Amino acid sequence: TLIMSFESSCDETSVAIIKNGKEILSNIIATQIKSHQRFGGVVPEVASRHHVEEITRCIELAMDEAAVTYDDIDAVAVTYGPGLVGSLLIGIMAAKTVAFAHNLPLIKVNHLAGHIYSANFVTDLQYPFMALLVSGGHTELVLVTAPGEFHTLGDTRDDAVGEAYDKIGRVLGINYPAGKQVDQMAAVGNDVFNFPRAMVQEDNLDFSFSGLKSAFINRVHHADQVHEDLSKDDLAASFQGAVLDILSNKTFRALKQHPVSQLVVAGGVAANQGLRKRLKEEIEKRNMDMELVFPPLRLCGDNAAMIGAIAQIQYEKGDFADLSLNSDPSLDF
Ligand code: ATP
Ligand code: MG
Ligand code: FE
Repeated sequence: TLIMSFESSCDETSVAIIKNGKEILSNIIATQIKSHQRFGGVVPEVASRHHVEEITRCIELAMDEAAVTYDDIDAVAVTYGPGLVGSLLIGIMAAKTVAFAHNLPLIKVNHLAGHIYSANFVTDLQYPFMALLVSGGHTELVLVTAPGEFHTLGDTRDDAVGEAYDKIGRVLGINYPAGKQVDQMAAVGNDVFNFPRAMVQEDNLDFSFSGLKSAFINRVHHADQVHEDLSKDDLAASFQGAVLDILSNKTFRALKQHPVSQLVVAGGVAANQGLRKRLKEEIEKRNMDMELVFPPLRLCGDNAAMIGAIAQIQYEKGDFADLSLNSDPSLDF
């Protein structure tokens, strides 16, 4: 089965051709980061306009690279939420056009399910498995009990972890998105500021990062006022130290309640080197017989390949959408 998939929920325009949900024949990603950087975040109107400008080229490049024609394609899949409404609509419109013009079935995909199924390119998923979804807008622990069956066990009560990275990065003078650079600085700094680890004592699977963000910002502002010179690397390491303690605490709490043989980490923050190292060490320390699955870096951020992976499952179930499909900007599981 060949699926042409579209992703345009935020600031990446992406089109992929995926074989059997497992093999990436092409995965074109046009990022708009440069256009948004001077505003310190994604500007929705700018994002939609870029999607309009890029999408046709992405389709052509994806088909060229995969060396396929429309006759080879079996279905068209598209992200319909969550995300920015104007951005989502461009992908949806493009996917509908291709589906209508070539008489192909249309599959509507949840972007978050897509992030989790980026793991499908790395391993054979075994059910049930646990997913730690850490991205720019979401922080969730999800138990996946069967193909395409998601159960949210824990969620953030305020900021998402990627969002927290971007906000504290801004205070450190780092361009949006700041996650990668904060991660690099954290690797050379020391965790000396002892920032709060919210909710780690609480017996639930929820997260909170806004207190950590505020503590960080207050510490930096206080230092500015008294002309104290703080090490940015130490600040980054202290922030990341708290983040990793929180993520690790809640993840292993969830795994204790639901023992599984695979832990999938997905979303933009799954690219974090500190997180990769920490979870690996925690599993070894506990002597757990569990596979730790991280998607390759290119598949951690937004991309259409992951949309094609989950779309294959929906294709097999006969879960199709019609041409009245609309976006759902606040879609969750
Ligand atoms: P969502 O998927 O929740 O709708 P999104 O699509 O905007 O949100 P992603 O593209 O999955 O989010 O991830 C982007 C986020 O990942 C940004 O906040 C970015 O700072 C963060 N990020 C990227 N690399 C790293 C890293 N190495 N360490 C920490 N954060 C990172
Ligand atoms: Mg993005
Ligand atoms: Fe995303």
